[in-house]
Amino acid sequence: MFLLAPMHTHAISAQCPACGLHELVAVQLRRGRDGIWVQADRTARFRPRIKTPEEGATIVQIDTCPVCFGAWFDSGELDILAADLEGIESVVSPESRPSKRVCAHGHGPMREHELPAVIPTPLDRCGLCGGVWLDGEERKKLARASTSDGQGTKTQRWFKRGAIWAAQVLTQLPVEVDNPARGTPWLVFAALTLYLVIFGAQELGYIDTYYYGLVAGRLKHEHDWFTLFTYMFLHGSWAHLLGNAYFLYTFGDNIEYMFGRIRFAVLLVLAGFVGGGLHVLLTTKTALPVVGASGSIAGVLAAYVWAFPRQRLFQVLFWVQLKIPVWVYLFVWVGFHIVMGFFARGEGVEGVAWFAHLGGFAVGITLTPLVLATRRRAVARRVAVPAVV
Ligand SMILES: [Zn+2]
Ligand SMILES: [Zn+2]
Repeated sequence: MFLLAPMHTHAISAQCPACGLHELVAVQLRRGRDGIWVQADRTARFRPRIKTPEEGATIVQIDTCPVCFGAWFDSGELDILAADLEGIESVVSPESRPSKRVCAHGHGPMREHELPAVIPTPLDRCGLCGGVWLDGEERKKLARASTSDGQGTKTQRWFKRGAIWAAQVLTQLPVEVDNPARGTPWLVFAALTLYLVIFGAQELGYIDTYYYGLVAGRLKHEHDWFTLFTYMFLHGSWAHLLGNAYFLYTFGDNIEYMFGRIRFAVLLVLAGFVGGGLHVLLTTKTALPVVGASGSIAGVLAAYVWAFPRQRLFQVLFWVQLKIPVWVYLFVWVGFHIVMGFFARGEGVEGVAWFAHLGGFAVGITLTPLVLATRRRAVARRVAVPAVV
């Protein structure tokens, strides 16, 4: 069945009804003859831009939140996307509860409906216009629900896995692969370059690591306060540098976008500074120098965990798609520092500056709710339909 969906002639100007952290962004999805949905208006790096739409291709425009992955479907749009389910709007249960979310067209609070046997969580529907809001998590469950049942042969199961993968990619497309609403994380790139250049200078002997490192005992006696700032730009080894760079690169872009450049810079420096201060106050190894951006990155990780607690990072390793929950990264990060600490023994650089990490983490946890509240107010001011969050 090929049909051309009614296209929006207008873009919705509404705040995300779920997280409130972004206005909804229009995304065109296009289903080819192979039945796979792709983003029609994407300017992908991996796939050539589609010049002429295939004849008979189904195109549907949805409005999605690039922060929480939730999506708004005008009446009828969801049916087209969920073609192998039988008309999603006909299977919603008639009973409903009041919802905290508001309709993207300005019709006020929606109603929560159960969707029996499809997804375990309710969805929000506007009684007036029939628009449906699906949370990011619900959307992913829906993508799985349409493909994941049945047993079959091994080959069939593999094909099914491919279909599930395609469905998951579809649900991720507007946000993680090619998000038109997200800029380049210039500050992350700048910080990475700075760390690299400074480490090069350390290796070549232009920068005295011990002099600019943070030594708790020395700071207490000689009051070399500048080391509270300088220590965070130095690193102890290539592995230390690359590990920190990986985590900053992975989590920093989202937080830079979320915070804005100035607040993100404040987060990096303040987390490093407070982390260093806490280390000076509490460490017992007062003679050993501490270096590294780990306090700053602890702040970024804390901000990420606070802002996206249920987020899974989509990673493709050797053509295998992996979705890794954030808490796994936290464990890996702690493990990375334990290993670093083990190998750094005897080099005069302290193994793991736990208090510096703790201080940085505390800064991230404290700043993030304030920044998010400010952001929600700013988004509400610039859209036609603000959401009550
Ligand atoms: Zn949202
Ligand atoms: Zn409505």
